[in-house]
Amino acid sequence: MKTIVLGGGIIGVTTAYFLAKGGDDVTVVERHSSVAMDTSFANAGLVAPGHSYTWASPSAPGVLIRSLFRDGEALRLKLIPDWRMYAWGLRFLRNCTAARAQRNTSRKVRLSLYSQSQLQAVTREEKLDYSRISKGLLYLFRDQAAFDRGVRNSTILTDNGLPLEVLDRQTTIGKEPALAASGETLVGSIYCPTDETGDAHAFTKAIYDRCIGLGVKFLFDTAIKQVVASGDTVESVDTSKGCLAAQRFVIALGPYTPVVARTIGYNLPIYPVKGYSMTLPIAKEHEAPEIGGIDENNLIAWARFGDRLRFTATAEFAGFDTRHSQSDFAPMIKAARELYPNGADFTQPSYWAGLRPMTATGTPILGRSRHSNLFFNAGHGHLGWTWSCGTSRIVADIMQGRRPEIDMSGLTIG
Ligand SMILES: Cc1cc2nc3c(=O)[nH]c(=O)nc-3n(C[C@H](O)[C@H](O)[C@H](O)COP(=O)(O)OP(=O)(O)OC[C@H]3O[C@@H](n4cnc5c(N)ncnc54)[C@H](O)[C@@H]3O)c2cc1C
Repeated sequence: MKTIVLGGGIIGVTTAYFLAKGGDDVTVVERHSSVAMDTSFANAGLVAPGHSYTWASPSAPGVLIRSLFRDGEALRLKLIPDWRMYAWGLRFLRNCTAARAQRNTSRKVRLSLYSQSQLQAVTREEKLDYSRISKGLLYLFRDQAAFDRGVRNSTILTDNGLPLEVLDRQTTIGKEPALAASGETLVGSIYCPTDETGDAHAFTKAIYDRCIGLGVKFLFDTAIKQVVASGDTVESVDTSKGCLAAQRFVIALGPYTPVVARTIGYNLPIYPVKGYSMTLPIAKEHEAPEIGGIDENNLIAWARFGDRLRFTATAEFAGFDTRHSQSDFAPMIKAARELYPNGADFTQPSYWAGLRPMTATGTPILGRSRHSNLFFNAGHGHLGWTWSCGTSRIVADIMQGRRPEIDMSGLTIG
């Protein structure tokens, strides 16, 4: 079966991998000259079922409103003239009830646990090297009220099968000695021993190599302009290098999925949410952490990849703009220095910004569409690295006539 995968990010490349393993003749179409150059380039690297909470929660509307009036917030809303952002925002607000937050989080945990098992299986089978650290993740709290709230909220994760441990300050530092330098600002943590870290860009490149071995073709420097359909069948994609025909198509274009899907009439609830990352070199004299995690008060994540330490932060609603300036990183640098004052070389930062492809529910859009031979693997939001192998396995299973191994409610276009 000749299949075209649209998009060479982590989701497109893992989709190509599973389809090729199942016998498809796969071509990946990507506008950049290599894989994982957009959102999958420099994310936080957390494989984090322990952070499967949905963003749309009863407290989210208040946080959004406050962000309009205060600078330096972890969440930033820019009032840009883009009606799609407001339409998405209304859908998001509809999901902010306690009942919907509970339902959507349960779905996310289920997908995260399945996806992590798939990622581990692929890593084992293909012997992949992506600076993986399997020592759990620490979710840190800087004040008692936030810590108590975090522990209360975490029952939704433990009820769904996640092992979590509540640690006081001393035990937290025992787990990650580099935190000793963070002083009295740390109250305690929730530790998820099964969570992991790894470099998503390195992983995607390693899977790309395996794809080449499986006969997958990659058309780089090729921009997709539109999808061409006749009746309920997609016939081709129109690209900067001409028209490409196939028997079936998968759209895995990250935040740009709705832009291309619109060309054949889909109005997908995916909106770009910008995040920032800073990667620092680690030398012998530094006391870098090994265990990754999230500072829950400042919403800053970190992970170590060999001799590099990365911090990420911020959820900014500002359309497709990926530009960044030094001032965007100031709150991140302050919190990072408080946590790990000698964690890495803060004088040599590499800055980056990328767009999370967020749905209003927080769950991705997987599998069938209204067209008989068109499939989606999109809308992975803040968990696309965690979900990469699970969602791609699911989409390949659906396309190749196998039943997905988990309950699909809430994970389809319907
Ligand atoms: C700051 C930040 C931190 C994050 N941290 C984590 C984390 O710790 N853990 C986690 O699980 N997830 C994390 N994520 C989320 C994760 O990075 C994303 O969900 C994931 O990378 C999305 O992958 P994708 O393949 O769908 O999108 P992309 O990587 O963006 O891939 C889409 C591809 O489509 C291509 N494309 C788009 N339009 C066209 C076109 N018209 N023609 C041709 N090609 C096109 C793009 O060039 C791109 O290569 C983070 C994201 C950000 C921004």
